[in-house]
Amino acid sequence: MSLFDNTQYAFESKSDAELQRAYYLFKLIGNSTLTNLGTVFFKLPFAVHIPFVKTSIRGTIYKQFVGGETAEQGVQVAKQLYKYGVSSILDYSVEGQTEEADFDHVKDVMFGLIDMAKNNPEIPFVVFKPTAFGRIALFEKVGKKETLTADEEKAWQNIRSRFETVCREGFEKDVNIMVDAEETWMQDAADELTDEMMVKYNVKRPVIWNTLQMYRHDRLEYMKKMYEKADREGYFLGYKIVRGAYMEKERARALEENYPSPIQPNKAASDRDYDNALRFVVEHKERFGLFAGSHNEDSCALLIQLMQEHNIQPSDRNFWFGQLYGMSDNISFNLAHMKYNIAKYLPYGPIKEVMPYLIRRAQENTSVAGQTGRELGLIEKELKRRKK
Ligand SMILES: Cc1cc2nc3c(=O)[nH]c(=O)nc-3n(C[C@H](O)[C@H](O)[C@H](O)COP(=O)(O)OP(=O)(O)OC[C@H]3O[C@@H](n4cnc5c(N)ncnc54)[C@H](O)[C@@H]3O)c2cc1C
Repeated sequence: MSLFDNTQYAFESKSDAELQRAYYLFKLIGNSTLTNLGTVFFKLPFAVHIPFVKTSIRGTIYKQFVGGETAEQGVQVAKQLYKYGVSSILDYSVEGQTEEADFDHVKDVMFGLIDMAKNNPEIPFVVFKPTAFGRIALFEKVGKKETLTADEEKAWQNIRSRFETVCREGFEKDVNIMVDAEETWMQDAADELTDEMMVKYNVKRPVIWNTLQMYRHDRLEYMKKMYEKADREGYFLGYKIVRGAYMEKERARALEENYPSPIQPNKAASDRDYDNALRFVVEHKERFGLFAGSHNEDSCALLIQLMQEHNIQPSDRNFWFGQLYGMSDNISFNLAHMKYNIAKYLPYGPIKEVMPYLIRRAQENTSVAGQTGRELGLIEKELKRRKK
């Protein structure tokens, strides 16, 4: 019996038809042969332009994991979820851009989202990926302290300026800004930049939040080091703590380029550091904001227990739980019933743009041991309960 087993709460926002759709979808993507074939097909450039294919995606996997084509459509979904105490973080998930004009466009989108968050209590954070503001190769070069050409220097200053203006806007409008974590080879430069923003804007409370991936074996030490710095200099740290999403890619690159893998030796080590990071934060709660981004029931239950032991109220605005839209509703909605702060990442965008995100969700639900089985088991239980 887990804290998150109540399926009536878990699926209270879903009609019978929506629940049936989710059931068939998880059955489908639970089949690894089908998912692998689908992945190959959907990566073909013309695939999403075939009208029948587009309609099928829209009615199934897109509907399950995406909030809509536009931010306005996303807000409507966010309002629905908020009726049940579940907040949303609109995630403009464009990936792989290379042009300065595209990076500037993302910055403008962030400004729009900050305004939306300011005016809608159901949106507690605005999030971006560092590489949505500039080329990954540049982050890598800066992280390695390599000399930049004049053009690169200019492009790097543009990235800095996008970071800076978005963080300042968040600070001035009192809207939390979350920065996602990506591949290790670009992360040093992004961390330095985000820490600079924290020093500047987290003077009274955590407004700027960075992300720590606990599948890296060096992140717990890094967090402790940042704590000492923040404590010495007197600013607040905001951290989303996740396990990490790029494990296969990280390991493959380390092998290929012959350097030691930055990833933990096994899952148990990632779990251990994840849970120890939660412990460290609650033990130093006066300095931290925490957003536990996880679908792991044990880690979520541990955080509840730690918050209780350290007299942290469920409604404390510096403590958040987070899951992805369309996944682990049992955790999100049961947490909401217990009055904890909980926010779903709610991606939005046209089908073509969000396809890489959808493919990752399908693969994750196929490859993460037990994830699909758990979703299916819960949906089955709820469908039976409703028939009674
Ligand atoms: C709200 C939210 C925001 C997120 N933001 C980010 C982000 O900014 N950056 C990012 O990288 N990810 C992000 N993620 C994804 C996250 O990092 C995980 O990939 C995902 O949540 C699965 O981990 P888990 O804790 O939910 O569950 P679990 O199922 O308990 O853990 C699965 C994870 O454990 C780790 N793992 C699995 N096998 C091994 C192994 N053999 N050795 C070592 N480690 C292993 C991997 O990280 C894997 O993803 C986010 C997730 C959520 C819910």
